[in-house]
Amino acid sequence: MPRNDTMMQFFEWYLPSDSTLWNKAAKEATKLANMGITGIWLPPAYKAAGGKNDVGYAVYDLYDLGEFNQKGSIPIKYGTKDEYLNAIQALKQNNIKVYADIVLNHKMGADELEEVLAVQDNPQNRNEMTESEAKKIKAWTKFTFPGRGDVYSPFKWNWTHFHGVDWDDNEKKSSIFRFYGKNWNENVDKENGNFDYLMGADIDLNNYDVVTELKKWGKWYTDLTALDGFRLDAVKHIRADFYPEWLTEIREHAQKKLFAVGEYWTTSVDVLKNYIEETKECMHLFDVPLHYNMYRAAYSNGEYDMSKIFEGSLVKERPDLAVTFVDNHDTEPGQALESWIPDWFKPHAYALTLLRKDGLPCIFYGDYYGVEDKSVTPKNEILHKLLRARKYFAYGEQVDYFNDDNVVGFCRKGDYEFPNSGLAVVMTDSTGGCIQMNMGKELADTVFYDCTGNLDETVYVDHEGNGIFYCKDGSVSVWIKKGEHVN
Ligand code: CA
Repeated sequence: MPRNDTMMQFFEWYLPSDSTLWNKAAKEATKLANMGITGIWLPPAYKAAGGKNDVGYAVYDLYDLGEFNQKGSIPIKYGTKDEYLNAIQALKQNNIKVYADIVLNHKMGADELEEVLAVQDNPQNRNEMTESEAKKIKAWTKFTFPGRGDVYSPFKWNWTHFHGVDWDDNEKKSSIFRFYGKNWNENVDKENGNFDYLMGADIDLNNYDVVTELKKWGKWYTDLTALDGFRLDAVKHIRADFYPEWLTEIREHAQKKLFAVGEYWTTSVDVLKNYIEETKECMHLFDVPLHYNMYRAAYSNGEYDMSKIFEGSLVKERPDLAVTFVDNHDTEPGQALESWIPDWFKPHAYALTLLRKDGLPCIFYGDYYGVEDKSVTPKNEILHKLLRARKYFAYGEQVDYFNDDNVVGFCRKGDYEFPNSGLAVVMTDSTGGCIQMNMGKELADTVFYDCTGNLDETVYVDHEGNGIFYCKDGSVSVWIKKGEHVN
């Protein structure tokens, strides 16, 4: 049996625009591998509208991985193409799989304006037109890539490759402009009536030439980088049958089962389950409902019913397809989806994702290294401990003790393939307490200690395998066999 897999999101929103992230990834590779990281999600690696200052989601040119002088510089925010390829190689040499961020919903930063006939849709209900009469607008939809020319692909984008935009440069007006004769895709999220349109120039994924070009690009990209999978951006704004088709073709081309995790932002597990069905289980999904459960727990002043922390989560309903996470670049302070889990609850949240048998956990760069811009201090110390606890001790049968409003926990009974494995987790959002757990016969007659360092006392597990494990007020304790270490 292989050791537990753990993913890491290797960027946060407020990184300085110094083009050094790829080099940092290469430099940190060995350390991260030792800590237990087995997969890394790198941010969008292609030239975006904001050039070096762009986080990467405002995609300009998918073929420019920091190689051409476009949008003010050769490198992107994280470095050059060569540094990117070098980082991937360094990570892979350390047995870390590399997942690329794939943004195919929209493009931004067009090179030229085009005159297009468009109708206006109500932003709150895109099935409803506010002005039904088609009007000529000026749209940023012409992408000619003057800095790259025809290298890698001669494809130039124009308005026929998009559904619509949110800006008329004629009247300097923003609205939802849908190009005359085009319809939003049906099988997208139902928020705002129809959530096909998110931002920029919305890519028309019904257009044959577009789909052909995006498949060609996907093959070029995977050939060049030899990456191991994808994080798929904004899938709720993309027709549900697109990615099954695209992934199948790219996987066949690469001749390996490339991993994929989709970002579908919703608090409803039913919506996620429906999407999983519609996409024929071709991708994992981030467990957004669990993130919000933890967020609510963290802000309920000890009043949250901790026994319900996994209620309505994807990891409970589809443990095989859930990627659990605590925070990400969108939930950071100041971002559109801000729902930042505060310091005191971070150890709880990471224990609930890293030490469980279910789901693939993804740790966040901003939690590990901190967020300088927002005075978020690094939590590398506790994260290091929990990651090592995951790597060495979180194995074997899992027994849940989620029976109390405040003090909850679970244990892992250990697996003979991993010597001295097994652990007990106890946490509370309120006053401290204890839980008697049965660790099984294998761990009978042993002494446990709290490897987080929150408590100094030890716990004796008796000849029946029973131990009484506890935690302090508002904290979490992770108990492992005395003599074992997470440092
Ligand atoms: Ca769309």
